[in-house]
Amino acid sequence: MSAPDPSKLSLNTATVREKWNLAQAIEGCARHGFRGISPWRDQVAELGLKKAASLVKSHELTVTGLCRGGFFTDKDWRDDNRRAIEEAHALGAQCLVLVVGGLPAGSKDLPGARNQVKDGIAEILPEARKAGVPLAIEPLHPMQAADRACVNTLEQALDLCDVLGEGVGVAVDVYHVWWDPKLESQVGRAGRKRILAYHICDWLVPTRDLLNDRGMMGDGVIDLPKIRGMVEGAGYAGFHEVEIFSKLDWWQRDPDTVLSTCKDRHARMT
Ligand code: ZN
Repeated sequence: MSAPDPSKLSLNTATVREKWNLAQAIEGCARHGFRGISPWRDQVAELGLKKAASLVKSHELTVTGLCRGGFFTDKDWRDDNRRAIEEAHALGAQCLVLVVGGLPAGSKDLPGARNQVKDGIAEILPEARKAGVPLAIEPLHPMQAADRACVNTLEQALDLCDVLGEGVGVAVDVYHVWWDPKLESQVGRAGRKRILAYHICDWLVPTRDLLNDRGMMGDGVIDLPKIRGMVEGAGYAGFHEVEIFSKLDWWQRDPDTVLSTCKDRHARMT
């Protein structure tokens, strides 16, 4: 496995969002040599869409994804996803990340929720295509099936892509897929065309919080070089986006330290 290309490093701004707003994150990326950034919509709204787009541009950053659309099992999903597509377009994002939503409130009908997700994506897809915004379905670890995403494996996400056609792909986040016995075959199946984003962090043992205890690359049990090998072997040549939700650790640290650690770990541990 050759060393990862440092120019492929991207920062998902959730990694530093407790201490930095979007403008600070953009400047931080530029300062630390990150060439990509993936902002969250609430931060874009706070800074202003136009301002965010112009700052990203003036710092010559690639927007490797906009977080996020989806939640197709919520009530107001249509308008929200329409706005998300517009924002992704304005930012020149490489994709709009879809966290598809879990069970509707009060429901135990998981197959029904999955159907709702399929229908929801199908409904917004024409607008996404028109705007030139690829939709990246992010399968989430099954522990989040009830409350965040009822699409839980790459296979499931790719089956959706097969049904939906052009303009839809997947975000491969190691945190969500590392355990999957079918990972290698499904990454191969996805191929260059459908892998729209690659998110990295690590799985800590023990995990103390189901959502916000992700590890820094190298601190956990995920074989990151191996998964990068699969993804690049499938033809993916895009960014490696660091996405670390870490309430108990990294969110409390100085973001400049976090970014320099990301850079070092990306080079040595991924
Ligand atoms: Zn992710």
